[in-house]
Amino acid sequence: MPAASEAESIASKFIREYYSKHPVSVENVASREFGFGDFEKKIKVRHLSFASDKELNRYLVDNAPPFISCSSALYDRPSAQPMEAKGRRGAELVFDLDATDMHLSCQKEHGTSWVCDNCLSAVKAETLKLIEDFLMPDFGFAANEISVNFSGNRGYHVHVSNDDVMALDGNARKQISDYITGSGMRIESFFPTIGQKGVRLEGPKPTDYGWGGKLARGMVAALNSGTDALTALGIGAAEARFIERNKAAVILGITTGNWDKIRITRKAEFWANAVKSMTIRQSDSIDRNVTNDPSHMLRVPETLHGDTMLVASRIGSVKALDKFEPMRDAIAFLGGTMLVHAAKVPEFSMNGMSFGPYENKEVALPTYAALYLLMKRVAAPA
Ligand SMILES: [Zn+2]
Repeated sequence: MPAASEAESIASKFIREYYSKHPVSVENVASREFGFGDFEKKIKVRHLSFASDKELNRYLVDNAPPFISCSSALYDRPSAQPMEAKGRRGAELVFDLDATDMHLSCQKEHGTSWVCDNCLSAVKAETLKLIEDFLMPDFGFAANEISVNFSGNRGYHVHVSNDDVMALDGNARKQISDYITGSGMRIESFFPTIGQKGVRLEGPKPTDYGWGGKLARGMVAALNSGTDALTALGIGAAEARFIERNKAAVILGITTGNWDKIRITRKAEFWANAVKSMTIRQSDSIDRNVTNDPSHMLRVPETLHGDTMLVASRIGSVKALDKFEPMRDAIAFLGGTMLVHAAKVPEFSMNGMSFGPYENKEVALPTYAALYLLMKRVAAPA
C-alpha cells in the first residue's frame, strides 16, 4: 500500500528527531542483547550489542528503528550466536501484560488492534494487582526491586531484579508464573470438603495467606459490587440475585471459612466455577512465554513504539502507575498539527482532548494524534 509507506517515511523522520533529542539510557547496556524491528516485524534483527549508551544512541539516530528491544538477561558476550554461546549471567524476572488478552467486552466493538480507555484502565488495574497482590505480599519483593514501564501500545511490562531473581532458572520462572496465573490450581486444596455429601462446605477465609485469601477476598469484593460482578464470575442471573439478597449472610460465612450459608444447588461446582473464573483473566493477560523464557527480549523503556508513536515510558513507582495515563503521559510529539485522511476512526482521547469519531474525512490534528492514527493504520497522510 503506497499510503502506508508514505506514513512510514513520515514516522521515520519523527523517530530520528526523537532520538536525537532524547538519548536513551539502559542499565548494564554492554551486557544485553539488542533487537530492532521495522514497521512489519517487531524484532527483525537481533544478537546486536553496544559497548555504551552513547554507541546505542548513535545507532538509534542513524537507523531510526520503529521498535527497540533488549534482553532481560545479562550476558558475557551478548552478540554471540547461538544463544548458548552468549554466556548468560542471569536474567530479570519480567511480566508482559496486554489488554488484548483480557477478553474485554469493548474489544468486541473496536477489535483487538484498537485500544480504548476501558482497555487501558483494565490492563493498568491488572498490573497493579500483579504487583500489589502477588509480587509484594506473596514473593516479598520490595518496591525498589520492581520497575514498571508502559509497553507503548496497550499494556505494561513489569521487571523484577535482585540477586536471587537474576539466578532463577527456567523451571523456577515457570513455577512463579503458574502461581501468579493460578494455573494447575486444585480447588480441593482450598475446599477440603468439596464433593462430600451432607458435609458443610469449608473454604478459605479472607485472612488466609496466598491464593486462598485472594479467592475469599475476591468473592467478598464481588458480593459487595452487586449482581453484575457476580454474573461476571459465571453465576447465573437468577442465582446472582438470590445471593445478592442474602449477601450479608454469605459474606459473614466466608469470613469464618463457612461457604455454605445459603442453599445453592450443586454448590461444589458452583463455587468451583466462580473461583476458577477469578483466575482466568489474569492468567491470559500475562504472557507466560515472556516470564518463563530468560532469553526473551522486551521493549527498551523510554523508546518509541512504532504502532503508536507513543513512548514506552518508565513509570517511577507503583504510586505513579496508579496515576499514569498513557494517552496523556506517553505522548512524544506535543507541538504542531498534521493533516490526515481518516478512514474509520472511533472516538478517542489524547492529551485530555477528545477526537472523532471520523469516517472517510480529512482532519487537521495535533501531531501526536495524527501520528497515532497513521501508525494504527486507520488514517493516511492527506
Ligand atoms: Zn477497549
